[in-house]
Amino acid sequence: MKEIYFDHSATTPVDPSVFETMLPYLRDRYGNPSSSYRLGKEARQAMENAREQVAALIGASPDEIIFTSGGTEANNLAILGTAYRHWGKGRHIITSAIEHRAVLEPCKFLKSQGFDVTFLPVDESGMVDSGEVGRAIRPDTILVSIMHANNEIGTIQPVEEIGKILRERGIVFHCDAVQAAGRIPVDVEKLGCDMLSISAHKLYGPKGVGCLYLRKGTEIVPLITGGGQEKDLRGGTENLPGIVGFGRAAELARQFLDRIPWELVLLRDRIIDGISERIPNSFLNGHRFRRLPGHASFSFAGVDGQALISMLDEKGISASSGSACHSDSPGPSHVLKAMGYSDQLAQSTLRVTLGRDNDDRQVDYLLTILPDIIEALRDISMAFAPEGECPCEDHPSRYHQE
Ligand SMILES: *Cc1c(COP(=O)(O)O)cnc(C)c1O
Repeated sequence: MKEIYFDHSATTPVDPSVFETMLPYLRDRYGNPSSSYRLGKEARQAMENAREQVAALIGASPDEIIFTSGGTEANNLAILGTAYRHWGKGRHIITSAIEHRAVLEPCKFLKSQGFDVTFLPVDESGMVDSGEVGRAIRPDTILVSIMHANNEIGTIQPVEEIGKILRERGIVFHCDAVQAAGRIPVDVEKLGCDMLSISAHKLYGPKGVGCLYLRKGTEIVPLITGGGQEKDLRGGTENLPGIVGFGRAAELARQFLDRIPWELVLLRDRIIDGISERIPNSFLNGHRFRRLPGHASFSFAGVDGQALISMLDEKGISASSGSACHSDSPGPSHVLKAMGYSDQLAQSTLRVTLGRDNDDRQVDYLLTILPDIIEALRDISMAFAPEGECPCEDHPSRYHQE
């Protein structure tokens, strides 16, 4: 059986047409966009064309796009850049407990520097309550950062409602849309956000490039200073091949989202229904309906998530347990913990994230082999389980199945 890739939330393959678009910029179009002769001007032209393509994906204007090295840098630029710009005005930041670590870590760093950070809780489906965002605002609040869609559980946050509240209160709103962009429509006007992060490699573009959308009039300071590139907000010679590839990927994503990606919704629901029917004591993680089209995540009581990933790998399937980052930092997922899971259940997770290249046959194969794998792993773990302890009773939610 050919390898099956079910981990599109970790990264996506580079689309062949993105690759073709990038190649000339790795060969003979090597000019520096800042040079004033023809080679440089052509490079500048290509970069500005990409900026338009990226802006069009999110309903922004091209001069509101700051290219960065990816989603992590965009999040850091938004959060640290706002904090350093406005620390004289206030030192309170609001975010949620289930953000990507590229948001949580800069917030924790600011906390160590004397800022006050509110980490809002979520409900058992991983949703932030927009009313709670409003109630957490204080006179010294300078920034709210809430993600659009969660990478681990796929839940889509009520970002439009949050944006509306923050608009009315005049609070700066940053949204990490790295998982949402290219998968569901993202529009900065509808969201009413002031800053928004995107990463190319999550939407069939190359790794190492992304952008921060910065609404006109929003003030931040740069984290990297140098030659004044990107309107003085991100110094350094631009990653032209990456930027050109990002632009093409954004253009393809926009075409893809011209219609609702029903194939992905149907495939996802086949996985969700198939697992729920075939495997007892399995729990869907995240919201049943307010979730990304290709995103399915389950916890299997009594199963070690890492062992499950290895067994699927042996069968030719690449999937993950929680998020890609967890392979380097073992321990229960902070997202599932925030949703009320026990440590044990939070480490028994399988995340299957689909992309444009997946099909029914691959989903059939997963549904055929998974029940036996889960049973085998449960046999092993039950042999070590303390007498009378049933791990499924750990589950916090109404999704509990008998
Ligand atoms: C992948 C991801 C990031 C980090 O983006 P990189 O380009 O890999 O640095 C940030 N936020 C979310 C939600 C992500 O899924």
